[in-house]
Amino acid sequence: MSIPEKVNLTTGTGWGSDRCIGNTGSVPRLGIPNFCIQDGPNGVRFTDFVTHFPSGLAAGATFNKYLTYKRGLAIGKEHKAKGVHIVLGPTIGPIGLKAAGGRNWESFGADPYIQGVLGAATVEGIQEEGVVACVRHLVGNEQERFRQLGEWDEGVCGDLETSISSNIGDRAMHEIYLWPFAEAIRAGAGSVMCSYNQVNNSYACENSYLLNYLLKEELGFQGFVMSDWGAQHTGIYSGLAGLDMSMPGDVFDDWLAGKSYWGPLLSKSIYNHTMPQERLNDMAIRILAPFFAIESTSIPGEDDTPNFSSWTQHTFGQRFPYQHYGPIVQQNWHIDARTSFSNKVALQVAQEAIVLLKNSRKILPIDVECGVKRILVTGVLAGADPKGFNCKDQRCIEGVMTLGWGSAAVNNPYVITPYEAISAKARELGMVVDFASDPWDLENLESVSDAADLCIVVVGAYSGEGFIEVEGNYGDRTNLSLWFNGDEVIKKVAENCENAVVVVNAVGPVDMEEWIDLEGISAVLFAPPLGQFVGQAIAEVLFGEVNPSGRLPFTIARKKQHYIPIVTEIDESNEPQDTFDRDIYLDYRFFDKHNLRPRYEFGYGLSYSTFVVENIQISEIKPPSEYLPYPEEYLPIYRTIEDDICDPEDALFPHEELDPVPGYIYPYLYDRDVYTLRDGERFPYPYGYKPDHETFPPLAGGGLGGNPALWDVFYEVTVDVKNTGRLAGGHVVQLYVELPSTIHISPPKVLRGFEKVYLEPQGYQQVKFELTRKDLSVWDAYSQQWILQTGSYDIFVGSSSRRIDLCGEIEIGF
Ligand code: BGC
Ligand code: BGC
Repeated sequence: MSIPEKVNLTTGTGWGSDRCIGNTGSVPRLGIPNFCIQDGPNGVRFTDFVTHFPSGLAAGATFNKYLTYKRGLAIGKEHKAKGVHIVLGPTIGPIGLKAAGGRNWESFGADPYIQGVLGAATVEGIQEEGVVACVRHLVGNEQERFRQLGEWDEGVCGDLETSISSNIGDRAMHEIYLWPFAEAIRAGAGSVMCSYNQVNNSYACENSYLLNYLLKEELGFQGFVMSDWGAQHTGIYSGLAGLDMSMPGDVFDDWLAGKSYWGPLLSKSIYNHTMPQERLNDMAIRILAPFFAIESTSIPGEDDTPNFSSWTQHTFGQRFPYQHYGPIVQQNWHIDARTSFSNKVALQVAQEAIVLLKNSRKILPIDVECGVKRILVTGVLAGADPKGFNCKDQRCIEGVMTLGWGSAAVNNPYVITPYEAISAKARELGMVVDFASDPWDLENLESVSDAADLCIVVVGAYSGEGFIEVEGNYGDRTNLSLWFNGDEVIKKVAENCENAVVVVNAVGPVDMEEWIDLEGISAVLFAPPLGQFVGQAIAEVLFGEVNPSGRLPFTIARKKQHYIPIVTEIDESNEPQDTFDRDIYLDYRFFDKHNLRPRYEFGYGLSYSTFVVENIQISEIKPPSEYLPYPEEYLPIYRTIEDDICDPEDALFPHEELDPVPGYIYPYLYDRDVYTLRDGERFPYPYGYKPDHETFPPLAGGGLGGNPALWDVFYEVTVDVKNTGRLAGGHVVQLYVELPSTIHISPPKVLRGFEKVYLEPQGYQQVKFELTRKDLSVWDAYSQQWILQTGSYDIFVGSSSRRIDLCGEIEIGF
């Protein structure tokens, strides 16, 4: 490939320039199309006739690996049908360090193990459909505030010099934040998105230690690193630091101006030798390789192009709508990407994600035989939003919640609201139903709830991505309270209604302390953002057609001070700093360490049935060895001698063939004058960079995701599960390990296995867990490797991180 051809793969054509949210340049000579890069993790963004899938957090709450894999398949299939080549998902960071973090609902829960297992399952599903998955955001994007320069004016975000720096220690980096990425890479993820924030005071997209060393050498990542939209801040530094693709191609604070750090400047830098050509070759190879690896039909061949436009909903429009340029062409084909498979999967995830937190009088499932004949539905989230279901990027929040707001939101093909679904079921059973949606008229609420046998209150809290502000919430939530007078509505109903059932439909933990223990509160459900089937799934659980089997993928605290706050203050340096001083004590690990009583702990959730877990057996599969063996071989890191660089004449803008579109980013040189500062002199490399720099392959590396020996299975644990209740249902068996603290002190419990089983009444099943070297190791920053410590490993099998049914022990000595 020529230099402009290679550069064209690395640089987006500019914000809004082609049909997708991001578009690379094409190489027509080789049949390589403009790659269409589209959000996102919960379905295809910015188009019609697609499924609005439940959120990543909902998939997390199912604790169901196979179902999450099927969700990935369905999401991949719909992207494929719309002509997308690269899906911007799954989200596996933020990991959920901060309860109020705006984007926590995109990913699978506040634990690296669950993020790793479900992130990997999603990658497998998406890529099996022939689209490349992009796991995002690497790394430490745990809050939205200060994530990006210029996103908000000074009054809100200060006069930032830099975006926020997430300062993460080496052990936490490995055991918490990188862990899910390692698992996704092992599953074959073709691409990784580097985040807006800085990591240890160097931008994530130009942090050589993060991208070149940790990601590409230690984790053996073979695909490409793509910048978040405008997260690139330099041309040469970012390229040398390991960035492979600039998205959307533009300079971050000057969109649509046709200016890029790369494009023509990357071409120029090859000619003047500030960027070694082998680095450009490596970028091009990394970008193309995943398409071959997943046997995508998109390469070669140009038929597989997007059949929708992110920028207009009309069937016809100008070729370049943002630039108001070009002829009128067809922009949208309105292809129906939905299938019965995606419907089924979306509904099942929504059903299995609902967590039963409390059912004190066994009022649920609702039973007409038990005297429930008059139902009141209330709460703003029970009904439709007066502005509709599809306010751009789901920023309208005065009604039912389908997802949080931002780039991970999807247009709803329709929405089944809780009121609609509850009312339909109640009517079928001959009940009478009322609906009061005004949360401010408490007097009215008093009288209408007095007239009901059972009142269902649907309340919640929203959050989203930093570029959208909703009611003073700049992505992150400003507090953890319920929105729309939720606490008062609940208390009023609890006082007056015979039975109050609260449904909390929220993006993360909310403060429940004002009402959770009230006499009148009979039952409480938690539902993460559930997509278009939200109401149907909630109603089916309330009426017992579905036995709840969701588990909390985070801890709900009793006290605010047990959560980590969002950083909102900056000092005069205007370089916000976020010190991750919780270290490895994420979520339940922190509560366990300090013996704090949570309101509801990670992994918690009830069922309408009862389950017994018994008979723990632990067997050794392979004797553990003290040291991680050097890998037999390393995955290749691309190295060649520098190719000849041809005449810059070949890379000049081909004016005879092409009329430049205003604002469009091309790979061609502006002029021939590329070589030197002065005649014969070259631009120097950045300080500290040597093109022939040799690195030593890390012991922790070797294969995809790290040293392959990390996944050697040392032990197998089996338990028996029985359904002892009267209803069929799902139960999540969870395995936690307490590692010895011989060398490094570890949390009292870390999740190292979970299995969901479905059992008929009296049904029984054996569940098997495998414990690998990695599961039992700690990261030793001193020797830069995973080590197994001698001592005893306590094995806990339970139905939450606090409810332990069985214990066992493994003794390791060498
Ligand atoms: C978000 C990414 C997203 C991109 C493109 C950014 O603002 O952080 O997650 O993929 O926009 O929409
Ligand atoms: C887009 C996002 C993008 C953001 C960047 C928004 O208008 O919808 O996808 O990442 O701008 O600030």
